[in-house]
Order: sequence, then C-alpha cells, then structure tokens
Amino acid sequence: MAPRGRAALLSAWRALRRRCPRCGAGKVTQRWLILRPACPSCGLRLDRGESDYWLGAMLFNLIAAETLFAAGLVTVLVLTWPDPRGTLSSGEASSP
Ligand SMILES: [Zn+2]
Repeated sequence: MAPRGRAALLSAWRALRRRCPRCGAGKVTQRWLILRPACPSCGLRLDRGESDYWLGAMLFNLIAAETLFAAGLVTVLVLTWPDPRGTLSSGEASSP
C-alpha cells in the first residue's frame, strides 16, 4: 500500500478510537462530544478558540448525510416502481 494510503488508514483508525491525529496516544475527547483544547500527550492544539471553527465540517457532514439519504430514497423508489407504497408497507401487494 502506498505511504499516503497507509497514512490515511492510520488517521481513520485513530479517529475511530478518538485518539490524537498526530501522536495517536492521547484521547482528544473528554466525552463523546466534548473535545479537549489540546492533546494531553503531545500538546497538539485541537480547538482554535473560534466559535465558527467547526461550521464547515458540520455543513459538509449535513450535506453528505442528506445526499446519502436522498440517493437511498431515490434508489428505493426506482427499484420498487410502479408501486413503491405497496412494496414498502406490510408486504401485502396492493392492487389497483
Ligand atoms: Zn497528540
């Protein structure tokens, strides 16, 4: 695997374990949704102190989640057309 791909996998693994992206040793959260201001192990600053610092990340997350939901909905509708309501309900086939 390319070094860049390995680094991305390592970063993803550290993110899943809520560890520091630089050293991998320190926990970056106090609890699930409360971020520490800095890594307790290496001192990497995690919070810049700006109130809107996470706005772009939240916007990206919202757009990605809504896009996935819309794609799933359209896929189900296309696959079950012409009677998506009858297919998705209790399993009974509806007849016109
Ligand atoms: Zn660290």
